[in-house]
Amino acid sequence: MGSYKKHDMKYFCCLRVNFIPIFTDGSKCSSCTSFACVFINSTLSFQLHSSCSIFTAEITAILHALSQISSGPPDNYIIYSDSLSALESMTSLNRFSHPLTFNILELRDRLTTKGFTILFCWIPSHVGISGNELADNLARSATNSLNSPVPVNDIKKYVKSIRHSKWQAQWDHKNTNKLQSIKRLIDSWPSLPIRKLDTVLTRLRIGHTRFTHRHLLLGEPAPLCTACQCQMTVLHILIECQQFNLQSIRCFHLSCLTLKDFLYKDPHPQLFTFLKMVGFYFLI
Ligand SMILES: [Zn+2]
Repeated sequence: MGSYKKHDMKYFCCLRVNFIPIFTDGSKCSSCTSFACVFINSTLSFQLHSSCSIFTAEITAILHALSQISSGPPDNYIIYSDSLSALESMTSLNRFSHPLTFNILELRDRLTTKGFTILFCWIPSHVGISGNELADNLARSATNSLNSPVPVNDIKKYVKSIRHSKWQAQWDHKNTNKLQSIKRLIDSWPSLPIRKLDTVLTRLRIGHTRFTHRHLLLGEPAPLCTACQCQMTVLHILIECQQFNLQSIRCFHLSCLTLKDFLYKDPHPQLFTFLKMVGFYFLI
């Protein structure tokens, strides 16, 4: 519990001397979502379900500030939030608007009918305004849980995030997968604008090409490098094979390249030139 300093009130209410300030804030970390409201003589803070977004926390804080004052006599209030997006959402309603935004506007209209005057005001966060700092600290340290519905969009994002984490965890254990050595993190990589090049690049990344793997379909022995007497693989052709040293130096200049250097998100600019020089490109 605490209170904010008088000079902050003066600063923010210099044009609104007859308005009672309320500071609201939301907080989200990896394990919990919470919010807080700071009134003149009291505070409140609650944890929400961890799947709630920071936006839901901010908007819930504003709604609770309104709910709290609705039980008192009509007066002039100014509700501060450091979430510009939450405040802006109240000025442009559409069918995608957050459900609690409708609740806020409905309650504000009801209070206005009763004689309240409600203003909403944005304040920057973490600039030393004690009322806002107190709301921030209370939100972070909230322990009481509020059993409130979770917006369906928050649930969707939460489920997507959990599924992505599980997918990533499974991918982390695919140590023998050729693509995993190049692409550790599951995210979207851009396609090359030319379809043929994109197909070649994808086959190189997964380590499966017509030349290196067609023997499996044909029931033939795996192709061997005539110079090194070892099995032909993408790794061997791009990096290991001594017979391509000259072409490699001409294209890449450096001698110590890894598959990642060739095939990562942005492939090496000389990759396709090298493949054509060694005669591998049209066998991929
Ligand atoms: Zn070789």
